[in-house]
Amino acid sequence: MKVALVGIGKIAVDQHVPAINASDAWDLAATVSRHGSVDGVEASTDIDTMLAERPDIPVVSLCLPPVPRFAYAEKALRAGRHVMLEKPPGATLAEVHALQALATEAGVTLFATWHSRMAKGVAQAKAWLAGQTVTRAEIVWKEDVRRWHPGQDWVFEPGGMGVFDPGINALSILTEILPQPVHLTGATLFFPEGRQTPIAADLAFSGHVSAAFDWRHEGPQTWDITVETPQGRLVLHEGGNRLLIDGAEVAVAPGPALAGEYPALYARMADLVGNGQSNVDLAPMIHVADAMTLGRRETVAPFAF
Ligand code: NAP
Repeated sequence: MKVALVGIGKIAVDQHVPAINASDAWDLAATVSRHGSVDGVEASTDIDTMLAERPDIPVVSLCLPPVPRFAYAEKALRAGRHVMLEKPPGATLAEVHALQALATEAGVTLFATWHSRMAKGVAQAKAWLAGQTVTRAEIVWKEDVRRWHPGQDWVFEPGGMGVFDPGINALSILTEILPQPVHLTGATLFFPEGRQTPIAADLAFSGHVSAAFDWRHEGPQTWDITVETPQGRLVLHEGGNRLLIDGAEVAVAPGPALAGEYPALYARMADLVGNGQSNVDLAPMIHVADAMTLGRRETVAPFAF
């Protein structure tokens, strides 16, 4: 299936291009980016031109930051293309609902991807927790923003989500694996002086679930989720890629996840298009919106890249 990749920046180069090139099912037929391109691939700087000139490309995969993404998604859907959205699926919940309605009207697939849900241990964690009662869960997601978003000032602009940009990955796993949903009950958000989005956040949820997100963490990067039930203690390390139950490492079962998170996303997109389905789950983003609504704000030291 031919795909056009839009927004050739960090994640397009790091993950999307290698995943597409490694797959027999996909053909990177065009790129749309104001500055970026991919060697050997037809490049356009304007999505209207690409959509008009390449009716043979049925799928558009959008790798832009969330704020500019909606306009591109709307154009692609109106042009009858299947659309794949990077996470988070939009800058607001309502704009993603609008895209869902457009996709339904056009009879095309909309896939709001959550790459962390494709991490190697997530499906087995979900299977182990199914039917159990969670007594406590804790997320610790601490990384260095300078390492993962070098110079990307958009993360601190309105709609950039700040530390929720990585934090929403943890929430995408949590909302996937918990057997019962939880809701946010309180939050403290730490805004660097003069910035529009938080650099750290502490969240409390119903059911003794908590999350600590911090983007100022320069040591070993930590992406851990611990879930306790009367049957035992489950830990997902390394962003969901290692699973331990009661301290013992669990070998992950063969499946699309073993190929990597982005190859698994593209395999899922091929299935969705093939079956005429969409997949849009806003649960992780609802928790972020709730934290922004309910959170107490504290000002911390200014941040510069
Ligand atoms: P990025 O490199 O800063 O931006 C991607 C590209 O989007 C840019 O190179 C730029 O291409 C285009 N773009 C940026 N602002 C634009 C605007 N206002 N209008 C039109 N195009 C614009 O960002 P990224 O790190 O790849 O992240 C993109 C998305 O992927 C985000 O939603 C992020 O959460 C997600 N993601 C990122 C990572 C990561 O490690 N960075 C990991 C997983 C997911 P042109 O200037 O060439 O048009």
